Amino acid sequence: MLADIDTWVLDLDNTLYPARSALAEQLTHGILSTIAQYYETDLAGARRIQSELVAEYGTSLRGAMVTGTIDPHEFLDFERRIDYSVIGPDPLLATALDALPGRRYVYTNGSAYHADQALSRLGLTDCIDGVFDILAGELIPKPYAESLDAFLQLYDVDPARAAMFDDLEVNLALPHERGMTTVWVTDGTPYEQVAERRWRTADVRTFLATLDV
Ligand SMILES: [Mg+2]
Repeated sequence: MLADIDTWVLDLDNTLYPARSALAEQLTHGILSTIAQYYETDLAGARRIQSELVAEYGTSLRGAMVTGTIDPHEFLDFERRIDYSVIGPDPLLATALDALPGRRYVYTNGSAYHADQALSRLGLTDCIDGVFDILAGELIPKPYAESLDAFLQLYDVDPARAAMFDDLEVNLALPHERGMTTVWVTDGTPYEQVAERRWRTADVRTFLATLDV
C-alpha cells in the first residue's frame, strides 16, 4: 500500500496533533482575537467574519489581506503569545515518520515560527526535511493552485509519487487532481480507502502504522 510514494506531505495543525488539543484551542482564540481587534468587533462578530473570510479566501489571513490592509506579520503576531508547552512529545508518530521512505515535508498555512515551535514540542523536528509555510507560499494559502505549485516546484516533487495528509478536505482536492495520493485526517473509521489514491483516516499514526514500508 502506497509503495510507490517517495514524498510525504503533511499538514501541521489538527493533522500532526489532534484537533481537540489545547494548542488548537489557542490558535483559534488567537485568530479570533486578532480579527476582533482588527475589525473592531466582539468574539461572536469575529467568528462570523472568520467563517466568511475562510469560505471566500481559504484562510482568515488571506481574507483580511485582500479585503483590508492588515500587515500579515502583525496578523501572525498572536503566535508569539501561544504557550506551546500544552503539547508534548509524540514518540509513536516520530517512529512512524522516521520509517517512511523518502522525504517528508510539512506544508502549512501557518508560519515557520509556529511550525518550528510545534514540531519541536512534538519531538518531530528531526523527522521533517523541510517546512513550507505561509510566507514561503508568498502569503497565498492552501487550497490555491499558486501555493501548491510553489510547494511542488520548490522541492521538485513528482505528484504521482507524493502523498498529502490534511484535516481540511478542501485542501486535498487540487493535490488529488494533480495526481497526488491524498489522506484526509478526520473523525471516523481508523482508516479506509474511499477511491483510487484517496484515503481517509482518524489518525495519522494509525494510518502510517498500516503501511508496509
Ligand atoms: Mg490543518
